[in-house]
Amino acid sequence: MKTYLLTWNPNRSPEPEMPRQANATAAGKTVIGRWSCGNTKQIEIGDRVFLIRLGVEPKGIVGSGWVVKPPYFDTHWDVQKQADGKKGLFVMCEWERILNPTIDVPLSINKLPRWNIGEKSWTPQSSGIKIPTHIVSELESLWAKHIGVSSLGDVFVDDEISAFEGEERIALIRHRKREQKLRDAKLKQTKTKNNGRLVCEVPGCGFDFEKVYGELGKDFAHVHHLKPIGDRNSPSLTSLDDLVIVCANCHAMIHKGGKCRPLEGLIHAS
Ligand SMILES: [Zn+2]
Ligand SMILES: [Zn+2]
Repeated sequence: MKTYLLTWNPNRSPEPEMPRQANATAAGKTVIGRWSCGNTKQIEIGDRVFLIRLGVEPKGIVGSGWVVKPPYFDTHWDVQKQADGKKGLFVMCEWERILNPTIDVPLSINKLPRWNIGEKSWTPQSSGIKIPTHIVSELESLWAKHIGVSSLGDVFVDDEISAFEGEERIALIRHRKREQKLRDAKLKQTKTKNNGRLVCEVPGCGFDFEKVYGELGKDFAHVHHLKPIGDRNSPSLTSLDDLVIVCANCHAMIHKGGKCRPLEGLIHAS
């Protein structure tokens, strides 16, 4: 998977829909829309994209998502060029998060890691440049911190996710994001109900991190989302009841090979 930088200059393209879309993403939904990718034709389904706001202060990263349709020609975004009958090259993106330009502060361009001299890294001539691989993990963690998402849940699935491409990868990531987003709330709810304990809910398991690891394992468990991977219908409707407490082993087995297995029958009775 590669990571690309898409640019936005509000002076040239006002994007009046953006506040509404931003609010939807803040509520946990994803938003699908086209974005100009300059002249870059090699972008593929499942590639990661970041959106940067330029031309107007404050400059910085304002969105992130994945490509769900590779570059295609469509009506130009520029009104003048549109009137001249010109076409532009676009990718269709599924945005996991867009910041609201009227209230949110972008992840400042001054905080971003550089790979070119001066500010040039983040102010390219056109949309659709590739972000060098060695910058990406720092960018991801700065962004996760900026939008207030813990990156805890990403750690163990990385290998699993990297084995997939295209739409399968997006579905897996979406599933993981849902688990991540409500993880803390689910842990809190379960502890309250269950005398402060977090016990794996897979039938036949019952692993309790605190019991085994003592203080170190206190408050630790994975949270698994029961709805199958690839269910696109209700990304916003995840409730705490759709989530279960699982141990790391069971969670890895549930998802092994990019699947989403039911809890029942996961553990072999011996
Ligand atoms: Zn899971
Ligand atoms: Zn377990």
